[in-house]
Amino acid sequence: MTGKRTMNNYEPVIGLEVHVELNTKSKMFCRCSADYFGKEPNTHTCPVCLGLPGALPYINQSAIEDCIKIGLALNCSVSPISRFERKNYFYPDLSKGYQISQYRWPLCINGQLTLDNGQVIRINRVHQEEDTGKLFHQEGQTLIDFNRSGVPLVEIVTEPDFRDVEAVRDYAKKLQQLFRYLGVSNADMERGDMRLEANVSVRKVKSQKSKVKNTSQNLKVEEELPPYRVELKNINSFRFMVAAIEYEIKRQIEALEKGEKLSQETRGWNGDKKCTYVQRSKEEAHDYRYFPEPDLPELRIEESRVKSLESSMPELPWSKNKRFEEEFKLSTAQAKILTETEELADYFEGLVELGGKEGIDAVKIANYVINQKIGAGTSVEEVLGKIKAKGEGVIGDERELEKLAQEAISENEKAVADYKSGKEAALQVLIGGVMRLSKGKADTSKLKPILEKLLKVVT
Ligand code: ADP
Ligand code: MG
Ligand code: ZN
Repeated sequence: MTGKRTMNNYEPVIGLEVHVELNTKSKMFCRCSADYFGKEPNTHTCPVCLGLPGALPYINQSAIEDCIKIGLALNCSVSPISRFERKNYFYPDLSKGYQISQYRWPLCINGQLTLDNGQVIRINRVHQEEDTGKLFHQEGQTLIDFNRSGVPLVEIVTEPDFRDVEAVRDYAKKLQQLFRYLGVSNADMERGDMRLEANVSVRKVKSQKSKVKNTSQNLKVEEELPPYRVELKNINSFRFMVAAIEYEIKRQIEALEKGEKLSQETRGWNGDKKCTYVQRSKEEAHDYRYFPEPDLPELRIEESRVKSLESSMPELPWSKNKRFEEEFKLSTAQAKILTETEELADYFEGLVELGGKEGIDAVKIANYVINQKIGAGTSVEEVLGKIKAKGEGVIGDERELEKLAQEAISENEKAVADYKSGKEAALQVLIGGVMRLSKGKADTSKLKPILEKLLKVVT
């Protein structure tokens, strides 16, 4: 970890923008199939997604509902009225010369997500937009495929609340897990279903004293944001994201220490050289000349529609995690592993339900599934059978263990005397005695307290 001290009293300020491509049947504003991956280039296109003059877009309601579900899961409020706007810029993969996005009136706003470390990350917005086409550079030529043009994208933007890289990783992983639970996307990073952009800046930490004062009185004094930020793009794995952010924090601190002034810019991650590099100086929102999309009506979302979407949502991963801890008495770590995918969680619950009828405890099942790396889909009967076989023959009954312990005590006068004279290690001899008498079947975890209890009354 990049500890505070090694960072020379600087702290990073990080905000995350996550894009996720929805797995809807059709594209955002036309009826072309959105399932473009690996398909013959330029076969999933029409006048709308090619941006031909005069073509009229219409809104994919299914995408809107996915966007709302993501927003609700992240505790956002859903705007009763929102709007699409044109974000104007020129790039060869953008045939229209603008991307239909949301800016001033996003669909979902003001959410939050709690991380494993307890920190609450504020979410500024969850809005709906569309993807661009894709450029391929090969043999000195650039080819373009518009199959991806107009595929629904949802963007989730946090406030600059992260103060360490580990929290960023946890957040990004939680979002990926959420998309999969909701079934709105595969969220595969390598395929580009899910894309991360990290905004990084650093600032001097206020003196320890004033910091303590702020937190202890819970005043939540708004601290000033650094006057610049560096946006990291082209990050297609969690590992690269962490590496890029760590590199950037270090680079920025070094620059500031040298008295350099940092400016707003976009940098990419070079995986080979393991460093970030300038792509362009950052444009401001006004450079895009956002204006309301005149070809689309405003988006009106009835309260009743939100309610019904909410009730159609599955139990969210973090709620499931908590429930598993409480209901099955699992540790936080166990619950986290078992709820990693909805599939594994359901499978585990199936095991517990059937196992319960046979007197097999949920923790025992959890341990077995985790240690043996049992995957969802393995026959439930088989797994329970193995857990039972493993437990069979073990003597766990207290009275039976007491009998064996008593026998071991009377056989080992010397060990008893040693123990009485303060040699704790002599207990091992007695444990060994019980194991011999039980032919190795005594449950050792229960043995020690039983022996200690009996030894108290031996004179
Ligand atoms: P843009 O479209 O220009 O990227 P957004 O508003 O979509 O702008 O995203 C800005 C992101 O940058 C947000 O995640 C926000 O939290 C983050 N951010 C803003 N100021 C800072 C800062 N000083 N340091 C780090 N991140 C910042
Ligand atoms: Mg951005
Ligand atoms: Zn189309």
